[in-house]
Amino acid sequence: MSAAPRADFPLLAANPGLVYLDSAATSQKPRVVLDAMRSYYENANANPHRGAYKLSGISTEVYHDARREVARFLGAADADTLIFTRGTTESVNLLATAWGHQHVHRGDRIVVTRLEHHANFVPWQQLARDVGAEFRICELTHDGHVDLDQLRALVTANTKVVAFGHVSNALGTINDVPEIVKIAHAIGAVAFCDGAQGAPHLRVAFDDLEVDAYAFSGHKMLGPMGIGGVIVRRKLLEAMHPYQFGGDMIEFVFDGDTTWNVLPHKFEAGTPNVADAVGLAAAVRYLDALGMGVVRAHEVALSRYALERLAAIDGLHLYGPASAEARSGVVSFTLGDIHPHDVSTMLDVDGVCVRAGHHCAQPLMRALHTNATVRASFYVYNTAADVDALATSLAKAKARFHAHVG
Ligand code: PMP
Repeated sequence: MSAAPRADFPLLAANPGLVYLDSAATSQKPRVVLDAMRSYYENANANPHRGAYKLSGISTEVYHDARREVARFLGAADADTLIFTRGTTESVNLLATAWGHQHVHRGDRIVVTRLEHHANFVPWQQLARDVGAEFRICELTHDGHVDLDQLRALVTANTKVVAFGHVSNALGTINDVPEIVKIAHAIGAVAFCDGAQGAPHLRVAFDDLEVDAYAFSGHKMLGPMGIGGVIVRRKLLEAMHPYQFGGDMIEFVFDGDTTWNVLPHKFEAGTPNVADAVGLAAAVRYLDALGMGVVRAHEVALSRYALERLAAIDGLHLYGPASAEARSGVVSFTLGDIHPHDVSTMLDVDGVCVRAGHHCAQPLMRALHTNATVRASFYVYNTAADVDALATSLAKAKARFHAHVG
């Protein structure tokens, strides 16, 4: 059983043999998302905010309804503190550039974790280099969790920001967000969370989490590519200098200086991506209708089953937390001495799509003493039969590879 009918997803419906296990990279899109985007272009397309005519007003309204819908889904009552971006990468760069250059100075400290995706690692590393701050990495416990004792020791009085992921894309580890926030706030640092792998799989209650910013990508949560966002505490956003300049984000432009528009416009320069915002709103409505509790329970069940089936394959090495409850729907592994890229290519022959590589987490791979892993990731449309197909194909791949190399 899946949590969502495969028939709702045109690509999956058109390819019955496809075993899509790469949702941590990007999810498939339900028809309602595609329909909502097409309907926007057919019925409401105009540049929002700019026209005095009715159609532009409709486009403006549609865009703001989408923002309200996504903010509500992520548990943020103040929708104007949700800034739409192209996705998590742009959101983190916004924070590191706009907030970072204002608040982090020579001798300050930035703390990240060993689990981070490059998108939540490199912008902070480069900020530290630019301003002469210390860049420190919190290591992991043996089972792939952030070592909270080490974090407490690393977060010293000169720490300005703790940047951490909600869920690891490479291992599936779910971080203890409230505890990490508590550690950051205890010394007055801000806590910025990369929610790229959190928002699609776990109920996020931004207003309760106390995190200072939460970044996400629409395409990993059934929405289109090219849209995502970041929710930031109003106080921080109001004090922040904009990082991109142009249309929409200004109030008055004088010859010598400019004043800024109110939130959220101050951080959304240029023509916004209305159709993709509308698609994302349709995606979160779809997830809501399924129920995030159901989504989570389904993924735990699939992960538990996958961990069981994969552990039974001789020579297969699993990475990350031992229990399904401690991870999202991600299993990361290596198969004997077969290169993960070869494993992935051999699985593809059976229509099984998995990711192989460093998962944009080279600092993590280095700590795990491997160059790459194979990663299977589950979402609402996957079933136990998909896990069976993965296990069967892995056993075949192993036999084929060893027959070939002797
Ligand atoms: N952080 C994490 C944990 C991710 O998994 C990803 C996407 N793989 C990103 C950030 C970057 O997201 P995007 O490519 O959508 O900007």
